[in-house]
Parts: sequence; structure tokens; C-alpha cells
Amino acid sequence: MKHDKEKYIPTLTYTSLLKEISKVRSYGKKKYGSYDDWKTTEVIQHLNAAVRHIRDVIDGEDFDQGSGYLHLSHAACNIMFEIERFLNIDEDRVTIDGRIFNTCFKCEKQLEPEDYPYGRCLSCRIKREEQMKKERLELEKMRKR
Ligand SMILES: [Zn+2]
Repeated sequence: MKHDKEKYIPTLTYTSLLKEISKVRSYGKKKYGSYDDWKTTEVIQHLNAAVRHIRDVIDGEDFDQGSGYLHLSHAACNIMFEIERFLNIDEDRVTIDGRIFNTCFKCEKQLEPEDYPYGRCLSCRIKREEQMKKERLELEKMRKR
């Protein structure tokens, strides 16, 4: 059931949340090169990331070692992406004359139909996977120290 009939009251959302998510997004832009990168990240990746950040808080770690920002802020950002996708991105698909969905988000090459769900061509997906694998290994090394 959806409850979006009532007018929303912006001041019910704390400025601290807006500031924290903005910081995480700026960090994300430095890391991934774009504010829109999240649109081509799969839903499950954001959900897993949010849960990992929340687990870290439960395990007693407040700050993300990579960014220095709160794990909670990272979790909130991941959740925001999926709320945005759930409620708004379908309209984007229609209005941005298909560009996002038939050309690669990274290199703008024409996509094959099997690439559509990813928004990236195969070679950009492989590059991204390698990058993420490298980051995961670095993170594991840091945790073992
Ligand atoms: Zn590409």
C-alpha cells in the first residue's frame, strides 16, 4: 500500500541526513567518476552494501575506513538510491529518450540487448568488476592488519 496522498513536510527530514548523504555522494563521485554511476549498479549491490555498513555499526565500528564517513551515512545513501530507483527511475527511462538504456553509461558505446539491465557494455562491466575486486582485496588486507 502506498501512502503518498498527504503533502510531505520537508522539515521532518533532518539536515544532518542531507549533509551526510551529500558527503558520501561527493566521495562516491571521486571514487567512481560520476554522480550517476549508482544508476547502473544493481539493486542487490546497494542492498548488500547497506547491510554491510549496518553490520559494521553493530560490530562496533562507527566510521567507514575508506571514506572516513559514518557507516550509517553510507547505509542511508545506499537506501536512498534504491528508494529513488523504486519511485522515480522508471519515469527517467521514458523521458531520457532511451539514451541511458541503449548506450553504455561509461563509454557511450551502443549496447547489445543483453547489456541493457547493466547499463554498461561488457568490457566496461569487466573493468568495473576488476576494480571492485581490487578494492575488496585492499579492504580485506586493511581489516587483517
Ligand atoms: Zn562501455
